[in-house]
Amino acid sequence: MKKVIYPGSFDPVTNGHIDVIKRARELFDSVVITVAVNPVKTPMFTVEERVLMLKESLKDFENVTIDSFDGLVVDHARQVGAVGIIRGLRAVSDFEFEFQMALMNRKLSDKITTIFLMPHEKYTYLNSTIVRNLASLQSDVSDFVPPAVQEALRKKFQS
Ligand code: ADP
Repeated sequence: MKKVIYPGSFDPVTNGHIDVIKRARELFDSVVITVAVNPVKTPMFTVEERVLMLKESLKDFENVTIDSFDGLVVDHARQVGAVGIIRGLRAVSDFEFEFQMALMNRKLSDKITTIFLMPHEKYTYLNSTIVRNLASLQSDVSDFVPPAVQEALRKKFQS
């Protein structure tokens, strides 16, 4: 059984993340989506809200589970018995930060391998910040996020 974790802020989960998750589950027996508590970022949604949106959006995916974690990603990977960490690469702009993280995580635990997956090119311009900004301006985000997220954003910004 090869298990991987896919950590991120998921504030909120977008169709780009879902595309990466679909690719990961084709390659591995199970995928743990981990909402990482990042003290440097001030999220729009609470950890509980982000976990719930992921659960609702991925309820039909059999080999996927959702959890959250506050601490080092490699520690969490070890705890759940994962062999690797999935990260998404959209463009060269993601590369430098992701490369540093991957090498640091390898230094912390050389048994955990980082695997980069590229989404379909239609998602390369998509990120959670853009989605939050569009939703705050009452713009339609249905092309970018699953229905559960669309609903959560609608509630957040209803006047
Ligand atoms: P983080 O705060 O850890 O960057 P994110 O939720 O923004 O968390 O992203 C988690 C991972 O998913 C990162 O590796 C990021 O590059 C990747 N990612 C985010 N949006 C997309 C997208 N549209 N397509 C592919 N990968 C993505």
